[in-house]
Amino acid sequence: MDTVVYKEPAPIVDRENPFESMMERFDDAAEMLELERGVYEYLKTPVKQVTVSIPIQMDNGEIEVFEGYRVIHNDAIGPSKGGIRYAPDITLNEIKALAAWMTWKCSIANIPFGGAKGGVKCDPSKLTPVELEKITRRFTANMLDVFGPDKDIPAPDMNTNEQIMAWIMDTYSMHVRRTENAVVTGKPLIVGGSLGRKEATGRGVMVSTFAAMAKLRLNTKNATCAVQGFGNVGSVSAKLLSEHGLKVVALSDVNGGFINKKGIDVNQAIEWMQHSGTLAGSGLGDKITNEELLELEVDVLVPAAKEDQITGRNAHAVKAKVIVEGANGPTAAKADPILDSKGIMVVPDILANSGGVTVSYFEWVQDRQGYFWTLDRVNRRLERMMHDAFNNVFNTAEKYKVSMRLGAYILAIDKVAKTLKVRGIYA
Ligand code: NAD
Repeated sequence: MDTVVYKEPAPIVDRENPFESMMERFDDAAEMLELERGVYEYLKTPVKQVTVSIPIQMDNGEIEVFEGYRVIHNDAIGPSKGGIRYAPDITLNEIKALAAWMTWKCSIANIPFGGAKGGVKCDPSKLTPVELEKITRRFTANMLDVFGPDKDIPAPDMNTNEQIMAWIMDTYSMHVRRTENAVVTGKPLIVGGSLGRKEATGRGVMVSTFAAMAKLRLNTKNATCAVQGFGNVGSVSAKLLSEHGLKVVALSDVNGGFINKKGIDVNQAIEWMQHSGTLAGSGLGDKITNEELLELEVDVLVPAAKEDQITGRNAHAVKAKVIVEGANGPTAAKADPILDSKGIMVVPDILANSGGVTVSYFEWVQDRQGYFWTLDRVNRRLERMMHDAFNNVFNTAEKYKVSMRLGAYILAIDKVAKTLKVRGIYA
């Protein structure tokens, strides 16, 4: 059977797009797996791409037309799953790459979903709540043939939230003439959300951190940790890591960070954040920049802010023993070989932050059962699935003698490719 020479770039070709880093790794994994040409082509091509126009009557009476997208990258394993983002600069190309990313993440997490992503090109900061609701409802109405609890299940992403998920659920339900809460996840509890969903990504980061430290035989007593980003993922990760015995010595947000070698009281940081909206002014320690935080001499570094923070320029200065990627894409592809050569273990984003989509899966299961779990059950099942995913990635990396990142991609792609082969090609 033909195998391919992986010279051409996979879906993303936009040089400005940080997710190109992700697709470079897809090609590396495909090469290790010696994927046959047809399967390679199949996996790099989204199964469905939908663009819709969203005409809205704005509060001033004028009509404005927005553009909405949904890309289903792959649904071989099950209904597709992935967030909806609202941003003025989103492109179909970016959405395509993010959808592929979701396919790999769901595959590693071992949940029965494929990957998708969607979005509306708009600036939510310039919209009134009424306009935001109208956009959401018209977008959903235009996507009625795409969305569905057995087909494609959206979730929150950048600039979308629980309320927007509730509007999507309501609009879909009105059209199908029944309440269908399994059509989205990340909903408010009162309309079928899951306990533990908000903390799920940070909890997964915590489980991954201790699993990585155990593999490296690092002593967790008095081990230190720095967390970049103090939003949902960063704050929950920092809180759980400190509750489980790590000393959090540095924290940051978009306005900069703090270092305190004696350890930062994370609960105090969260309280400060809740009333002032930023860590700035909290006096948690000595001020440092975000760049300095990444280069601290700590055992564990958790980048939990945004993409492309550790790059070919600063990777040589990173001193942590383990990097656990809470954010999506915080490490650029050029930094990978540098971190590898320094012997730093990187727990890759598609594994480390998969706790969020895992509890989204639990939410979907609960909605479909009409039976809601206790927080304890959600957390226990999440921790078990994170451990299994971590061990599967670790063992794959050992087997192929590659990094955890490449091991994760190999594991993910192999499973989707095998599913495709077993299902066969319908013609
Ligand atoms: P958030 O908006 O709640 O928090 C982001 C944090 O990063 C904020 O504290 C912000 O001040 C900080 N930040 C922004 N720009 C920064 C910069 N240049 N330097 C330092 N800090 C900066 O977002 P979140 O939900 O915590 O998501 C963070 C990352 O995790 C994103 O990459 C997201 O895609 C990823 N992620 C989130 C989830 C989830 O369940 N929320 C799941 C998987 C992955």
